[in-house]
Amino acid sequence: MPYATTNPFTGELVKTFPDATDSEVEKAIAKAHETFLSWKQTSFAERGAILQKAADLLRAEETELAGLLTLEMGKIVSEAKAEVELSARILEYYVENAEALLAPQNLPVLNAAEGKAKIVHEPLGVLLAVEPWNFPYYQIARILAPQLSAGNTVLLKHASNVPQSAAAFEGLMRRAGLPQGGFTNLYATRSQIELILNDPRVQGVALTGSEEAGSSVAAIAGKALKKSTLELGGADAFVVLKDADLKKTVDWAVFGRHWNGGQVCCSSKRIIIADEIYDVFLDSYTKGVAALKAGDPADPDTTLAPLSSQAAADKVKDMIRKAVDLGATATTVGPKVPNRGAFVQPTILTDMSEDNPARHWEFFGPVSMVFKAKDEDDAVRIANDSPFGLGGSVFTADTRHGEEVANRISSGMVFVNHPTMVKADLPFGGIRRSGYGRELTGLGLKEFVNHKLVDVV
Ligand code: NDP
Repeated sequence: MPYATTNPFTGELVKTFPDATDSEVEKAIAKAHETFLSWKQTSFAERGAILQKAADLLRAEETELAGLLTLEMGKIVSEAKAEVELSARILEYYVENAEALLAPQNLPVLNAAEGKAKIVHEPLGVLLAVEPWNFPYYQIARILAPQLSAGNTVLLKHASNVPQSAAAFEGLMRRAGLPQGGFTNLYATRSQIELILNDPRVQGVALTGSEEAGSSVAAIAGKALKKSTLELGGADAFVVLKDADLKKTVDWAVFGRHWNGGQVCCSSKRIIIADEIYDVFLDSYTKGVAALKAGDPADPDTTLAPLSSQAAADKVKDMIRKAVDLGATATTVGPKVPNRGAFVQPTILTDMSEDNPARHWEFFGPVSMVFKAKDEDDAVRIANDSPFGLGGSVFTADTRHGEEVANRISSGMVFVNHPTMVKADLPFGGIRRSGYGRELTGLGLKEFVNHKLVDVV
């Protein structure tokens, strides 16, 4: 796709950006490598000072930065501001913790007389980040902060519909004092991803996005013998046990499914309700969804955003039609969404029978799949019946029992009494078709380091 800002609420093409040329890509790799050679020698204090300054700039420029998200991908104002703050918190997490997390680790040895051994964590070099449009700043922050802290440098290929957000983050890092080449935004084409990953100076790639994008980029990385981490789609289970607090759980379900217009890899896409409370829960949930207010994302009263593009909205509508053709019941909910803008009418899908392949799809928009569970074992079975394994949640009045149920859910993250949460101090990532590797915390920090053994005899 060509790089362009198109307002998803008005449909207006605001600005286009030319693709990078191969020569620009080549120069960017060379600069990123040159900068890596000096950046890796910097102290944690020097790296931390730049990240802290960047966090301060994010907060100081919150209004303008949030405005770009609303313009380019239709995020509602409150969520756009929250994303700016979350990005600042991620930078600060590494200011505070990177040095301790990367401290050399002495290994237990069987016979001390034979010497001592330790692991040191050394940076690898230039990395490529391929990122999606749904959280334009957060996706950058969660790869950039740990990798700069570890001593690596980063090239960014952001989604083609958020070019201004990508450029804004690059500019902010430069103003925070990051040397040129530390973080470079490239309007790279897909074929240039291959060029970048085949370059011997580039050591790996982190991708967040669709399964198709992940599979394609990981194949290129694999062929070039470069490490990859993938954060792909998800269809998180939201399990409601019979003793769950109805009001709180419904509120979380409405939020968990509809924040960011429903375009979150870890949103609560499959709501699994205990038989005993199914009818009352579904009734309350439907009312909660109906209360959402679709409209201009720049209007502070709006609570349901348009999708990121008309193409994304058309894709979700088509998936709903196909799910119905395959036997599901689709119930549209709430007042009619505006004609103008990339909106999808909130929809609840029920009667998703065991043989309906749509129950395994990821609907990237305001579509809730709702399942009735015969009992707790059945709820766990439905939760685990997914090709994805990103997050998940369990709602119950008995949190100790909630933990036991959480232990039975097969995914990268499970929350008791909260939809899957994105926080600066929690790791993020999944299993199966949701990808591999982890971002954030010490796990993300150590994805692209050389765990080097130093053994002294
Ligand atoms: P994509 O996953 O296609 O885009 C994410 C990033 O990958 C973008 O930078 C994109 O570039 C790039 N990309 C896409 N295809 C390729 C490819 N074959 N080779 C190299 N790079 C590629 O996002 P879409 O908007 O198409 O999203 C479609 C689906 O992806 C959604 O329905 C959802 O299921 C999933 N998704 C998951 C996200 C998550 O957070 N895990 C986020 C966004 C989407 P470009 O923009 O230039 O195409």
